[in-house]
Amino acid sequence: MGKRADGTTAASQPPAAKPARRRGAGKAGDGAERHQEIYRRIREAIVEHRLKPGARLREDALAEVFGVSRTGIRKILQRLALEHLVTLTPRRGASVARPSIEEARDVFAARQLVECQLMPWAARRLTPTDVETLRELATSERRALRAGEQSQAIQLSARFHQRLAELAGNVPLAEFVERLCSRSSLILAVYGGRGHLGCESHDHDELVTLLESGRGERAVAFMQRHLKAIEASLSIHDEADETPDLYTIFSS
Ligand SMILES: [Zn+2]
Repeated sequence: MGKRADGTTAASQPPAAKPARRRGAGKAGDGAERHQEIYRRIREAIVEHRLKPGARLREDALAEVFGVSRTGIRKILQRLALEHLVTLTPRRGASVARPSIEEARDVFAARQLVECQLMPWAARRLTPTDVETLRELATSERRALRAGEQSQAIQLSARFHQRLAELAGNVPLAEFVERLCSRSSLILAVYGGRGHLGCESHDHDELVTLLESGRGERAVAFMQRHLKAIEASLSIHDEADETPDLYTIFSS
């Protein structure tokens, strides 16, 4: 501690200036709060594509990074596995989940059902402050995209959808939407085009305008198109589904 490059100890270093908060990513007890924080950080890294689908999540390495026990990390990984963000394999351990095509389709079908139906509720309930919050999220998302901050943009886009669901006023459904958005983010990482975020960010502004003016039914139709557009941008076509036009392929 306090050693200079020449090996002498820095005399100017104030005594006891630093609390013991040096190990790994910061150790502040092994309690529930700390676990929640680590859970949130791993989850964020997955949602933002900083941890890619299929990436191995070694318990010992994570325990070291966060300065907690392996048992603690195991619990967090189990929790993430329940949310379908992590896959636990008996011999191989944990890795970031790689959603199947079927799962991708189901997640978007669920989003269509839930998020669209929340729109009339949101249109009735949104206060001017809520509208402002949503507009700020949409603006930040566009700014992040323009600045090439992909991770930030992904997170903000998901947060827009989550916030909108929360503002519709049904807590269990909002929690469900939050999970679906996290899974969508993984789906985009696997099946999305390179650098494709999913949402057309100007869509979010238009959606807020519809809700602000109380046009709930229009917002339903808009959200349907918005989610369809994201799904359509993914490469989730089964090869078995496709019957190639052999005549066209070999005619030239
Ligand atoms: Zn969106």
